[in-house]
Amino acid sequence: MRKFDFIDRELKRRRIEHQHRRLQGVTPLPGARVEVNGRAMVDFCSNDYLGLSKHPSLQARAIQFSEKYGSGSTASRLICGSLDCFEAVERKLAESKGVEGALIFNSGFQANVSVIPALADRKSTIFSDALNHNSIIQGITLARCTKKIFRHNDLDHLQSLLEKNAENGASRSLIVTESVFSMDGDQTDIDRLTALAEAHDAILIVDEAHATGVLGENGMGLTAGKNVDVTVGTFGKALGSFGAYIACSGKIKDYLVNCCSGFIYTTALPPAVLGTIDAALDLVPQLTDARKRLHENATFLRDRLSKLGYDTGPSTTQIIPVLLGDEASTLAMARKLEEAGIFATAIRPPTVPPGESRIRLALSAAHTRPQIEALLRVFGE
Ligand SMILES: *Cc1c(COP(=O)(O)O)cnc(C)c1O
Repeated sequence: MRKFDFIDRELKRRRIEHQHRRLQGVTPLPGARVEVNGRAMVDFCSNDYLGLSKHPSLQARAIQFSEKYGSGSTASRLICGSLDCFEAVERKLAESKGVEGALIFNSGFQANVSVIPALADRKSTIFSDALNHNSIIQGITLARCTKKIFRHNDLDHLQSLLEKNAENGASRSLIVTESVFSMDGDQTDIDRLTALAEAHDAILIVDEAHATGVLGENGMGLTAGKNVDVTVGTFGKALGSFGAYIACSGKIKDYLVNCCSGFIYTTALPPAVLGTIDAALDLVPQLTDARKRLHENATFLRDRLSKLGYDTGPSTTQIIPVLLGDEASTLAMARKLEEAGIFATAIRPPTVPPGESRIRLALSAAHTRPQIEALLRVFGE
């Protein structure tokens, strides 16, 4: 039987090139900690930026919604799965985002892979940031249209590509980018993007996965109150739960309900998840102090790392890459951190280009100063 030879070859290649990954079981502990291999470690990898994954009001509302509506939504939204809690949560979300329409998706991945192809056709041109998330790249691939990649966060380059392609006969143009980038922790200039989109009559799609809950007015992201056509966000990161949303006009919402396969052909999220989203949306505007603590933690860590001589790249947020360059020193640092009881991710090629290996740190408002100082001691050695 040779039909699975390709699997043997690929797994072997990965083992030889130290790219073979395994699932690591973890048990959550109170505070920003997890138990890994029977050992308590401080967690510097999770996206639980506000510590909401353990908030009692999210857990309580999950139980409440589950008791009221059952454990499953029983069907897709267009059949009979559109329980009244979906509409209530979408209204709450639209209000806090300052838009007409909000639509819940089962995940951010599912939103990106289906919303982008729904808004593009084969004759469209999509302009995409070089460091966009894999789900955006998959969505663009599924759109099967012309794709132009602009250099990471280089809006001059985006502008020149838009100008060069103005007369290329495309049916429409779409610009897709993120407001906070997941690898470098840097931010895009939303005002300049909206001006570029307007000047070139392009549909602007911004992914707020790492900004939702953390940045912008009331923590509702950098696109809140701005002229962005389609915002994508997740409830799986700072909002401490699961699921995703689109914020847009009423017209685009109506179109997506009718034409977006990733919304139409899937069972609606379970009521318990809707309960956690509902509770998180109530909490987020009140979490000003937690956001302040998070940003102070991030500034403190970046400053101290740079005093120690480390390069934290263009980061201005709670995501802080420590750029170490070669793979060997990155892996050595990852081992030192592990020995010190610190759980952090080593990022290496092919996720980043060769020579750009790094330790990626993600901060939470739940981190204490002593936890961050212990992290800095390892980098200091
Ligand atoms: C995490 C992430 C997603 C996927 O969201 P999920 O809800 O986890 O599926 C999409 N886009 C970006 C930029 C992300 O970081």
